Amino acid sequence: MTGADRERYSRQIFFAGIGEKGQEALLRSRTVMVGCGALGSFQAAALARAGAGDLTIIDRNYVEPSNLQRQWLFEEADACQALPKAAAAERRIAAINSSIHVRGIVADLTASNASELLGDADLILDGTDNFETRYLINDFAVSRGIPWIYGAAVGSYGLSMPVLPGRTACLRCVYPNPPGGVQPTCETAGVLNVIASLIASYQLGDALKILCGRPDLVRPRITRVEIWEGGTRQTEAPPRDPDCPTCGRREFPYLEESRRAPVTLCGRNAVQVHERERPIDLTALKGRLEPLGEVRANEFALRFLNAPYEMTIFPDGRAIIKGTSDPGIARSLYARYIGQ
Ligand SMILES: [Zn+2]
Repeated sequence: MTGADRERYSRQIFFAGIGEKGQEALLRSRTVMVGCGALGSFQAAALARAGAGDLTIIDRNYVEPSNLQRQWLFEEADACQALPKAAAAERRIAAINSSIHVRGIVADLTASNASELLGDADLILDGTDNFETRYLINDFAVSRGIPWIYGAAVGSYGLSMPVLPGRTACLRCVYPNPPGGVQPTCETAGVLNVIASLIASYQLGDALKILCGRPDLVRPRITRVEIWEGGTRQTEAPPRDPDCPTCGRREFPYLEESRRAPVTLCGRNAVQVHERERPIDLTALKGRLEPLGEVRANEFALRFLNAPYEMTIFPDGRAIIKGTSDPGIARSLYARYIGQ
């Protein structure tokens, strides 16, 4: 550590839990953040300021005006230019701390690129907005023995849970399968910026212990916070399930690309998401989407206009998204408005 580092991180080094040894470990650490929305942008800024030496930020979306309410890294100019979040985040993080290494990757995390993007990580932080990606992270992290920290926030509620492979319950020990049907999302149920930063902070508390070389201090518990009605509840996570398909039987189906609903281009500027095992109640979905744009629905299909996109959703879960030819954007819109 240089003299400048000692000065810069002095308040953290004086903190007995970290000290100079912990700071040195933090400076050598490699963290990957999957998703750079409300959770991910707060995580990235906090870790950069703390001197986490190597940060990778993966995100498939572009900055929009509606992001600015809660996504701490971005500014109006980023939204005006519709910059990729990963690129805007990389630039801003480099300005916050030029002595660490940061790279932003504009990509959709998939089974085929997981090894390349996550393989070197000491820690993976969940900043995603969908369960499909969380189950993929869980499979990858358990298969490689990399710790990861689950986090989610919607409305005024959120939760976080650390997963230390081999030691604590993994995501599938607790939730064997992703939730089905239509899920509330930040687009349909809204979200308070403070619940997102609070959940990110709980994730970061555990992240700092892991990156400072003290993973033994991480307690296997689930933290649930409801910030509007009030209340924080921390419960011990259940013990590892010896029969868990992921950490017990070591089956990793989410690492097989064929597991995902395939996405195909259809027409010049449209993408089809071939989800067929996700029955959707179109009447309930209509109620959720009506405040957000024009919705027309009958028993066969629901059409949702939200410029520049037009989504047609079928009762079996299939969707055609007009207005893009980018499969990552199509998956993202599906996750936002239908839930995943
Ligand atoms: Zn498990």
